[in-house]
Amino acid sequence: MISLGIESTAHTIGIGIIDENGGILADERDMMKTKEGSGFIPRELFEHHQKIAVDLLKKAIDKAEITIRDVDVISFSQGMGIPNALRVGASLARYLAIKYKKPLVGVNHGVAHIEIGRLLTKTKDPVVVYISGGNTQIITYVDGRYRILGETEDIPLGNALDELARFLNYPMPGGPKIEELAKKGKYVDFPYVVKGSNVSFSGLVTHAKRLIKKGFKVEDVCFSFQETAFAMLVEVTERVLAHTEKNEVLVVGGVARNKRLQEMFRIMCKERGARFEIVPFKYAGDNGVMIAWTGLLSYKHGIITKMDESKILQKWRIDEVEVPWMKSRSIHLR
Ligand code: AMP
Ligand code: MG
Repeated sequence: MISLGIESTAHTIGIGIIDENGGILADERDMMKTKEGSGFIPRELFEHHQKIAVDLLKKAIDKAEITIRDVDVISFSQGMGIPNALRVGASLARYLAIKYKKPLVGVNHGVAHIEIGRLLTKTKDPVVVYISGGNTQIITYVDGRYRILGETEDIPLGNALDELARFLNYPMPGGPKIEELAKKGKYVDFPYVVKGSNVSFSGLVTHAKRLIKKGFKVEDVCFSFQETAFAMLVEVTERVLAHTEKNEVLVVGGVARNKRLQEMFRIMCKERGARFEIVPFKYAGDNGVMIAWTGLLSYKHGIITKMDESKILQKWRIDEVEVPWMKSRSIHLR
């Protein structure tokens, strides 16, 4: 069985092709960049993605050495995401499904990040820490769905790091620059904001800006920001591990690249006897393969998206999606 997946929730348009065994046959992507080389303008996404989608599709089909008729299921990212971007993938998917008489599967983007992570790290039932520019969530499978057991109450961690970097006049993405500066810093006092299993980062950003204006060393501010923000995340992740009695942690999303963050998670996991995994760098970002794989899992479990149910779902939360392939691992929260 072969699944073709189309990703187009934000800056990336991607076409991925995968087989039933998780063999990646093609992975074509293109990311919109502004002239300054970073970021994107939401209203321009439609044009960018539209222009390049068919080219990427042709390349992917060539790379996989198949024809479109060999594809068993057409998968597309249905949400959550930016409507202008989502519409390109959804339209292409509908066209292919109708023209070639293939089943259509709308995939939740967040679920796809988890599923490609599980596939590539061979984790079974992890507590997932999803930390990117647009998300900060602690997610795990409970009773038929992935549940968000902890999340940011304001801005995502990647966004907080980018904002601090922008304030320091560094270009996007700012995370790597903050990481570099932090290596030479020492600790100064920072607010630590954990509420139950939730975290909040906007106060940390405000505090960091205030310290810099006061003349504190940039390195010290970056170091302390990281130590505090990462410790908050480690604490809530540990709480979710304890509550659910799970023994695997999987970190996905762009911020997972941070070496200090990895180290802090690794220490906590070691102390708890849990396995620690990070999604491979190449598949940390948005891609069509993760959509293809999740579409294939869905299709094998009887999930098909009818044409009149294929409209984009801008705010489709991960916990609204049934994931029957995880059912055998069901646990109940006490
Ligand atoms: P994504 O949204 O998954 O594409 O991830 C992008 C986010 O990851 C941006 O906010 C980046 O600043 C952040 N990021 C990338 N590399 C690092 C790093 N080494 N340390 C911290 N954050 C990072
Ligand atoms: Mg994403």
